[in-house]
Amino acid sequence: MTQEKWGQLKLGLLKTVGQSNYTTWIEPLEFEQLQDGVAVFNVPTNFMGNYVSQNFADVILYELNTAGEKVQRVTFRVSANSTAKPSPRLVSEAPKAVAASVESTVSTGEELPAAPLDTRFTFDTFVVGKPNELAHAAARRVSEGGPVTFNPLVLYGGVGLGKTHLMHAIAWELRKRQPELNVLYLSAEQFMYRFVQALRERKMMDFKVLFRSVDVLMVDDVQFIAGKDSTQEEFFHTFNALVDQNKQIIISADRAPGEIKDLEERVKSRLQCGLVVDLHPTDYELRLGILQAKVQQHRDTYPGLEIANGVLEFLAQRISTNVRVLEGALTRLFAFASLVGREIDMELTQDCLADVLRASERKITVEEIQRKVSDYYNIRLSDIIGPKRLRSYARPRQVAMYLAKQLTSRSLPEIGRRFGGRDHTTVMHGVKRIEELKVIDGQIAEDVEILRRALEA
Ligand code: ADP
Ligand code: MG
Repeated sequence: MTQEKWGQLKLGLLKTVGQSNYTTWIEPLEFEQLQDGVAVFNVPTNFMGNYVSQNFADVILYELNTAGEKVQRVTFRVSANSTAKPSPRLVSEAPKAVAASVESTVSTGEELPAAPLDTRFTFDTFVVGKPNELAHAAARRVSEGGPVTFNPLVLYGGVGLGKTHLMHAIAWELRKRQPELNVLYLSAEQFMYRFVQALRERKMMDFKVLFRSVDVLMVDDVQFIAGKDSTQEEFFHTFNALVDQNKQIIISADRAPGEIKDLEERVKSRLQCGLVVDLHPTDYELRLGILQAKVQQHRDTYPGLEIANGVLEFLAQRISTNVRVLEGALTRLFAFASLVGREIDMELTQDCLADVLRASERKITVEEIQRKVSDYYNIRLSDIIGPKRLRSYARPRQVAMYLAKQLTSRSLPEIGRRFGGRDHTTVMHGVKRIEELKVIDGQIAEDVEILRRALEA
């Protein structure tokens, strides 16, 4: 981003934050650099850095991204040779012409309606199995709209395991049973969007009134607001106001609240006050069940379509990632079969889904794990494999052993051989140690999780 561009963006912020905030907090910001998605600004004082970071970081981030800059984070630092100066107390209004042009460029934002509900995402179409039965039962309970017994309900789990589906199902059910209730479903991203818009249009009162008047609030993918301080702050207040009025709140996240990085402690603990249930990765039976249900649904679109024995079982076995991929595979299979007018048998399946099957076939090797782990901990590959017993090598080594046991089909002796010829009991000990540490040491748990994701990606 160039200085000129920042100059223009800065003026855009005038409308968002108002003249007095602008002159005090935004005007003095000096753009330093944008690298790897982090935009750095110089500020004259520490105090100012903290204040801007707490109160305006979201708005700035939003403005940068809207203008096409790819920025994940903004940081503020006090630079010794900064020419940034505290703004004078009395500043004249921005020239009228500029103010007018700013107005015309930023007031194009439209009122965002509540996110539409997907008509396919109902309880009828949700297949229940061991991995999701608790989440399903909790969702059912909340959807009955009785007295609020747990607040909030937090559903968490990996991508494509049915969080959004369950939330929509709750909303549909509530609408049916109690149409008078004001049910608001939206993603955390939309929550932030509305919040920022309210700020820029100076309609914070409307925003607060709107959000405090809902009977049931559902916020999907709440991990999105992590690190976005003023949005979190507003979320926290909205949350408290609704809980005080005994209104039901339903939240989803891609991991347990306690494990969401950069989520404020008080928000975390608020989320943990309710009922927290997770959706586990699907198992074979659930996947098969989902496939069978989907086939029934597809029958309407493709009447007379035949599926040979064993095809669904094969798919449930082979595609074990998320349900979305599984569904996509089936949809493609149906479209393809109806196009070529053939029965869906193994041969057609293999042809049609070659790429999907290959992707899920990818095997993770012990060597790959060792490489990733040594990169992650910034040590040499040879130190992971070698004999040194230093803690700073031993721990990563154990993490790598643990991941090798989890992610490959190698036996303990085979893993031991790949770690410089170690004994299988050493590997076993390492695996056990990490299992224990994962429970008591959040950092280890997080390291393992990050590495696992990176390896499975
Ligand atoms: P998430 O929000 O957890 O990422 P979604 O709710 O969007 O996942 O689910 C992804 C897709 O998989 C959706 O089309 C959804 O209908 C389907 N799906 C997930 N779990 C189930 C289930 N148990 N039964 C039926 N469909 C499911
Ligand atoms: Mg979702």
